[in-house]
Amino acid sequence: MDTLRQADVAPQKLFLEGSWQEGTGTPLEATSPIDGTVLTTLSGASAADVDRAVASARQAFDDGRWSRLAPAARKKVLHKIADRIEAEALKLAVLGVRDNGTELNMALKAEPGSAAGTFRYYAEALDKVAGEVAPTPPDILGLVHRAPVGVVAAIVPWNFPLMIGAWKLAPALAMGNSVVLKPAETASLSLLRLAEICAECGLPDGVLNVVTGSGAETGSALSMHMDVDVLTFTGSGATGRRLLEASARSNLKRCYLELGGKSPNIVFADTPDLAHAAKVSAMGIFRNSGQVCVAGSRLLVEASVHDAFVDLLQSEAEALRVGDPLNLSTQIGAVNSEAQLSRNLSFMETAREEGGVVLTGGKRILHETGGSYMAPTIVTDVAREATLFQQEVFGPVLSVTSFESEQEAVSLANATDYGLAAGVWTSNLSRAHRMIAAIRAGVVHVNTYGGPDNTVPLGGVGQSGNGHDKSLHALDKYVDLKTAWIQL
Ligand code: NAD
Repeated sequence: MDTLRQADVAPQKLFLEGSWQEGTGTPLEATSPIDGTVLTTLSGASAADVDRAVASARQAFDDGRWSRLAPAARKKVLHKIADRIEAEALKLAVLGVRDNGTELNMALKAEPGSAAGTFRYYAEALDKVAGEVAPTPPDILGLVHRAPVGVVAAIVPWNFPLMIGAWKLAPALAMGNSVVLKPAETASLSLLRLAEICAECGLPDGVLNVVTGSGAETGSALSMHMDVDVLTFTGSGATGRRLLEASARSNLKRCYLELGGKSPNIVFADTPDLAHAAKVSAMGIFRNSGQVCVAGSRLLVEASVHDAFVDLLQSEAEALRVGDPLNLSTQIGAVNSEAQLSRNLSFMETAREEGGVVLTGGKRILHETGGSYMAPTIVTDVAREATLFQQEVFGPVLSVTSFESEQEAVSLANATDYGLAAGVWTSNLSRAHRMIAAIRAGVVHVNTYGGPDNTVPLGGVGQSGNGHDKSLHALDKYVDLKTAWIQL
């Protein structure tokens, strides 16, 4: 572990046409949020580099080196990639953690562990996807083909780069597309290594290209590109809006947006085990320092158990071991960057001004490390109109609001622009089903929070975006339906 933790990270280049190439855009530094040290430099992809990446992906698509391979051959390569990710799991996880600060015990499962599972899932799925024969008149044969779209651009965020990267890459590659991947500025390293792994496992040159750089330079060139067919994105709503604009101003590329959330976690008085609910709810907001898109960041709790439940939660929050993410006993690692930490802290000032009571946390900790850490934070008395109720922090901050009735709980749950996830704690089965139907969200957890696997889709409604990652449904994003109408 010490060797991995201290290993030098070579200056990084772009991965184009199966080889490392220097970018001609603005380079970036990769700084570790663990202790503030600079790990290495990242090459910046200029618009001209993005052109090269897209041209390489297009060429690879058009000549069929991957797109026209037999499904069984594509399956073999994706399985090999999964094997290699598993074989290198610790190395990949440590590299990612040094870059983005996620606690290692979680990163091992959520990053290489999950990414390997995702490559395996889509490897197994790809040869079960068939076209259709339409119920036509007898002198006509109507066929519906599922054709790969061509060049897919994938723009991903800094939380869980391997996991989210795999959610885009694996189904897009499974369907025979070529991909240009743009990692986030503060979490590029493990994805660059993944590109190399893909090549070593037999993915033909040009089928996967990785362009690093800033959103403003590299990301926007990709989103404006005239030869990208589909743009698949996970990140903030602000960037999502820019991508839709870019699509409209360029070639009307199809955009799938997985955006943020302000997910309600609703605790009824008849929750079967309040102590268990408090433990799970604490991790539902605080793991990865709250930098989880589906984090249960808005606790709605029935008034009659408010005080008891908040006490339990406070004990859970204060017992969490925050610190060096590479220490396996750490439960909560670092905040991804200084910029994100300042943003989190700015919400604290506003919360107080708007009547919230900071029960615990609310501050930066572990200054002496040189890294970026924030104490798990609980703010009670948060009103429906308050900024903390309405806006995503993307940090370890839980807002608490009480309710009196099921009807009020639904109304509060649906009172934001978001609709990504929700939690409901109750021992009443009928109420659970009523809540599932009434809450506007892409996923509703009941008597648990977090953990859905590859078998089910993840996506939001409202301003949490459109499109879904994971499950067989994700394959639809990376195919075009093409009709053949044949006179017999
Ligand atoms: P972000 O939108 O700032 O950045 C995401 C990616 O977009 C990065 O690669 C960035 O470089 C790129 N980008 C930024 N500006 C761009 C531009 N003008 N053109 C093209 N690309 C651009 O988001 P972030 O801060 O990296 O991620 C955090 C956000 O992501 C949170 O809001 C979180 O909720 C959301 N998120 C959502 C999901 C989900 O599945 N719904 C999952 C994880 C994170």
